[in-house]
Amino acid sequence: MKLCIQTQLGVFHSCRKGGGCQIMAKGGSRIDGSAAVRGSQEGKSSLDRRGAMKLAAGLGAAVAGMSATSSAIAQEKAKEAMEREPEPKWRRYRIGDAVVTVVLDGLRPGDGPYPTFGADQDEASVAALMRENFLPEKRFVNGFLPVIVETGGQIVLFDTGMGAMGRQNGMGQLRERMSQAGYETDDVDLVVLTHFHGDHIGGLMEDGKPAFGKARYAAGQVEYDWWTSDEAKNGERKDGAALVGKNVVPLKDRMTFLKEGDEVAPGITAQEAFGHSPGHMVFEVKSGDKVLWLTADSANHYVASLQKPGWKVRFDQDSAKAEASRRRVFDRVAQARAPFIGYHMPFPGIGFVEKTGDGYRFVPLTYQLDIET
Ligand SMILES: [Zn+2]
Ligand SMILES: [Zn+2]
Repeated sequence: MKLCIQTQLGVFHSCRKGGGCQIMAKGGSRIDGSAAVRGSQEGKSSLDRRGAMKLAAGLGAAVAGMSATSSAIAQEKAKEAMEREPEPKWRRYRIGDAVVTVVLDGLRPGDGPYPTFGADQDEASVAALMRENFLPEKRFVNGFLPVIVETGGQIVLFDTGMGAMGRQNGMGQLRERMSQAGYETDDVDLVVLTHFHGDHIGGLMEDGKPAFGKARYAAGQVEYDWWTSDEAKNGERKDGAALVGKNVVPLKDRMTFLKEGDEVAPGITAQEAFGHSPGHMVFEVKSGDKVLWLTADSANHYVASLQKPGWKVRFDQDSAKAEASRRRVFDRVAQARAPFIGYHMPFPGIGFVEKTGDGYRFVPLTYQLDIET
């Protein structure tokens, strides 16, 4: 067993071969993501608060027949239980010798999935697909999942979440939650940007200064060239280009520009998956004989994008190219039977894909990585 990192919570995470990477409290007992955030600032996002209020209201109704005293006790107990077991906001996995931590930057509920997904379909078909998959027809929740890979002595962060611009709506939580997971911002050696949409580059700067003070950066050459072009600055995506100007361009002297097959850290290679954005890239993480794919925004909804890879997605800048990339990436992942993490898959965002006729089915991870095979 080796101890990797001491966190500000006074706990260690330790990497045990074959036993997965665990969080050890001082003294040695294992705690998981939910226990590690105990007593922290968790549960303060607007979504969490709304959930707590809803639950409290539901409990109130359920105990309406009871005396005022027992009702108050029941509510107090429910409150205590919620504080004791906050939903974990990060998860850790081992891929060979690499330690992979997924951090939930935040959640954004909204209307849809139609027409964000399936704009070229009729609304009823999108609703039917949601119903078939036990999902609401008119509302959906998008989530944002930066990933930290510790491998070959390096700590590599993939994408940075919403940053300050998401905070008033409960997003932009990467910094706080990675700290709960044992990583401070200054621990990050390399920040890799899969592409330059705001939910991926928003957390690069804090108060106008680099948020990851000691990091180098890596991003696709094609992506950088497009977002800094006159076409981007003057066209319909000029707001996005302005954010790139603010958050990415000031870091360019510390940035490596990637093309197909480039290695960003030992065992981690970049692959082109253009279309969602002009230079969008995905990453293959290899350690020993184990593989994990980071598919970034190749699929933006775990049902709509995977089961219907040809449906138009509003977020895709070039629909035809994005579809071709989506199919190429997920054919490869399905063929390899390897796990992948998608930036917008439901937290913790890790699973497998099964090829099904014209599309794919998302199979969430359960215990596959806990058992040495
Ligand atoms: Zn994107
Ligand atoms: Zn995204």
